[in-house]
Amino acid sequence: MKNIPYNVADFTNKEIYQIKLLKKKNHLQQNYFSNKCNQWIKGKINCKESLLVNSCTSALEMCALLLDIKPKDEIIMPSYTFVSTANAFVLRGGKPVFVDIEHETLNIDPVEIEKAITKKTKAIVVVHYAGVSCDMEKIKKISKKYNLYLIEDAAHAILSKYKNKYLGSFGDLATFSFHETKNLHCGSGGALIINNKKFIEKAKILHNKGTNRDKFNRSLIKKYTWVDKGSAYAMNQINAAVLYSQFKKSKKLFDKRIKLWKKYYLFFNNYKNPNIIKIPRVINGIKHNAHIFYIIVKNNRDKIIKELSKNKINAVFHYIPLHSSPGGRKFGKSFGNLKNTNFLSKRIIRLPLYSSLKFADQKFILNVLKKKLTITDVKSSSF
Ligand SMILES: *Cc1c(COP(=O)(O)O)cnc(C)c1O
Repeated sequence: MKNIPYNVADFTNKEIYQIKLLKKKNHLQQNYFSNKCNQWIKGKINCKESLLVNSCTSALEMCALLLDIKPKDEIIMPSYTFVSTANAFVLRGGKPVFVDIEHETLNIDPVEIEKAITKKTKAIVVVHYAGVSCDMEKIKKISKKYNLYLIEDAAHAILSKYKNKYLGSFGDLATFSFHETKNLHCGSGGALIINNKKFIEKAKILHNKGTNRDKFNRSLIKKYTWVDKGSAYAMNQINAAVLYSQFKKSKKLFDKRIKLWKKYYLFFNNYKNPNIIKIPRVINGIKHNAHIFYIIVKNNRDKIIKELSKNKINAVFHYIPLHSSPGGRKFGKSFGNLKNTNFLSKRIIRLPLYSSLKFADQKFILNVLKKKLTITDVKSSSF
């Protein structure tokens, strides 16, 4: 039996060719490939500035530093997200306030955001789960009304759109991930996107170990020196060479992903099984990037995953909601009953999805699932 992993990071001779080019042209010292990647990002996404960083986690930490988060500042975010969304602010003494998600999209609920605002609230962080946009119209309105910074953790959402505008262009700041588990990758990497002009200069210094090296690189000064806070956040040129290669073939990678996503969608949309509560919905005005395909099952989530595993199919679930994690309880606080977060996080199954997944293997996955979902149907509700 063939092993079908949950994710396979695309990596071919094209990436190796770009690394070789780096050596041949002796570009290791300069920002040759970072510049090319930033140009690509800026050409796609209507943003003021893009800085390549070594991870999305680093980009989120830069957000917390740029906002000058101080102890007792509250940052509203979904509980249903990856730890880095919260940890970045906790490192500066901030307090994450975990709010519920919408049942429909698994994205942060704007109604809950507004209810959770206090005098201490400094910012709202949204996460575009599975590359599907949050309700940016409503959320932008709230951030303006209460004069709060808006940050998009767009780790899943490169090239996704909300009403014809790319995600990453809505927040004062936004972050992308190019980790090997994401749609476009370079092993580990990310980008900080800046839409609020007032952060640009400070961000460049922060990005360059606290120096004004960016000005030096642009021949605006003769010598660079330490001017403000900073760290080693920048992406190295080897990773940038790999990332540029991924950018160049992004259309091909996305086309295949989207085809696979649609096949999952069509199958489950027609396949009525009482153990399936919901699948992702296609929403008017929202163009997603097929980052994740999930199903929400009524019963026996863990058993189904185990049955798939017996057939060498690696399906997974995530996240343990942050409000119920040891770290989240120590550093953050819950807002409201987080009903949808608790319900959905216990029932989600994410199915294998990557550009090199064969259609025949996808069929096999669906056939196994069909059998196993039906068997587990018989069981009574576990909650
Ligand atoms: C992957 C991910 C991150 C972290 O990205 P890295 O590049 O691995 O640091 C942050 N937030 C979300 C929502 C993610 O999925």
